[in-house]
Amino acid sequence: MKIHVPDIPEEGLLHEADLPVIINDHAVPDIAHVILNITRFGRRVLIEGAVKIMVTAKCSRCLKDASLPMDLTFREEYLPAGETGKVKEQELTNGELDIGFYKNDELNVTELVREQVLLAAPMKPLCKDECRGLCAFCGKDLNEGPCGCRKEETDPRLAPLAKFRELLKDRKE
Ligand SMILES: [Zn+2]
Ligand SMILES: [Zn+2]
Repeated sequence: MKIHVPDIPEEGLLHEADLPVIINDHAVPDIAHVILNITRFGRRVLIEGAVKIMVTAKCSRCLKDASLPMDLTFREEYLPAGETGKVKEQELTNGELDIGFYKNDELNVTELVREQVLLAAPMKPLCKDECRGLCAFCGKDLNEGPCGCRKEETDPRLAPLAKFRELLKDRKE
């Protein structure tokens, strides 16, 4: 969804929509319910938004698809790309406001909602808090039950190796 900036009326625009948004290169878009309060000051556009979305993401422990409910708000100012050189830094940052950019008089609302969701998304998503993940030895999903490696894992001679593998696993994430 795109908004033509000069069309935003002086009194602002309240926009509510269900937007299909592709998150994390997932093939199927997730539907974001968005409420946007859009105000324009000349060529600057201020957007206050609320987004509700169920994001499909891979669980960082068991690697299965998980649905993460997200509920976020943001407040961001958008400027025409390439014209920031003319504006002073203080004017730009104006407190804690985040700055984004738009091109060719067009605000890509889908893209900016996508950015906000990605910013707020957890670095290590979990399908559930108590997800047991995969066995570091055989790769079995431990949510489905214990694997045959249990004995070896508690073998003191192998403990340092298990720790080492855990470390490697954490690095890769
Ligand atoms: Zn999981
Ligand atoms: Zn195992």
